[in-house]
Amino acid sequence: MEKNISQQLLEFIENSPTCFHAVQAMTDILSAEGFTELKENQKWHIENGGRYFVTRNGSSLIAFTVPVQEMKGMHIIASHSDSPSFKIKENPELESEGHYIRLNVEGYGGMIRAPWFDRPLSVAGRVIVKDKAQGGFRSILVDIGRDLVMIPNLAIHMDRQINDSCKCNIQKDMLPIYGDLSAKGTFMKLIADTAGVPEEEILGHDLFLYNRQKGTVWGASGEFLSCSRLDDLQCAFASLKGFLAGKRQEYLAVHCVLDNEEVGSGTKQGAASTFLYDTLTRIHTSLGLSQEDYLIHLADSFMISADNAHAVHPAHTDKADPANRSYINGGIVIKFSASQKYCTDGVSAAIFRDLCQRAGVPVQTFVNRSDMAGGSTLGNISNTQVALNTVDIGLPQLAMHSPYETAGVKDTGYLIRAAEEFFC
Ligand code: ZN
Repeated sequence: MEKNISQQLLEFIENSPTCFHAVQAMTDILSAEGFTELKENQKWHIENGGRYFVTRNGSSLIAFTVPVQEMKGMHIIASHSDSPSFKIKENPELESEGHYIRLNVEGYGGMIRAPWFDRPLSVAGRVIVKDKAQGGFRSILVDIGRDLVMIPNLAIHMDRQINDSCKCNIQKDMLPIYGDLSAKGTFMKLIADTAGVPEEEILGHDLFLYNRQKGTVWGASGEFLSCSRLDDLQCAFASLKGFLAGKRQEYLAVHCVLDNEEVGSGTKQGAASTFLYDTLTRIHTSLGLSQEDYLIHLADSFMISADNAHAVHPAHTDKADPANRSYINGGIVIKFSASQKYCTDGVSAAIFRDLCQRAGVPVQTFVNRSDMAGGSTLGNISNTQVALNTVDIGLPQLAMHSPYETAGVKDTGYLIRAAEEFFC
């Protein structure tokens, strides 16, 4: 059962080299389950008992089901679709020494840089072309899907301090080699060929590097799994599985995956945007309910903000709080912060603990050391648009923001069970 879930998770992540592919993968699953796609630029006709999803920018997705009876409120799980990577700039090719063609890239999100060196990478994302049939523009997903580029280290003989600390500069040290000089002028042609369009028709693109190493289950008894983008596709996957498994009877059930968490969420499709608010209020309007009905429901609603958490690292045990220490395969981590960077409070912690007890799922707690700032997530940002009782949680992992992260095989199942209970 656990291994099966882990294999499904690894497949889902492998099919999701970028946020656009992650949303496409979820769209495919929801469509196969009989959900109806809604478009933001068309009128919605929502019915009691109906199942729907809507996307924004092709990189954020909200799926929901409406109870048959009058709804009591809304139950929402929010996670994020994006991960730190390198984005390919306009005019992507740079010639070097008359012998190499490198790609000009910039950092996306706060990544650990060193593990991007010396491993095969590929390129995926989307290109934008004019839609000749319908008018306007259309987005085509691309995934080169083979070992394509590499960021080689400098030999140790030329930098004896290389192991002291990695101070790599993205612009100087980390532009991936794409080919020898014969590759000049071919990169965008390769992208166009993969997208199945003439190169001159590509008017825009959002392309990223990704790690080609496949995910794996490992350890003495297969207790660990490692993969790219576990933050936060592990939570997005578990949220979707629990959402589909739940009965979704009394509350508006909402599976929400937002883009751009890694760069502060302040985009039209991020947690700081109106995407969730717009969707929830449109559902109410379409059901013939009022703004006051929405606010009444909001007061009886709950959100689980699900974004991966830090497990104690065996070589750096002093980096964790003395009493709130989470471990891989120890269960769902409830995150606390006095500054409310994590929006868990006494009430939402109580509601979530009770939920996990009913689901038979273990929980652990995480608080940053009092002298460490720690990270941030999307719960408190989303609350500025849709203000409701919220708990911040995550699954314990190591090496967060590395291109190859490590988590536990049991924890995905714990979050699926908790989500199923939440969406009962
Ligand atoms: Zn995250």
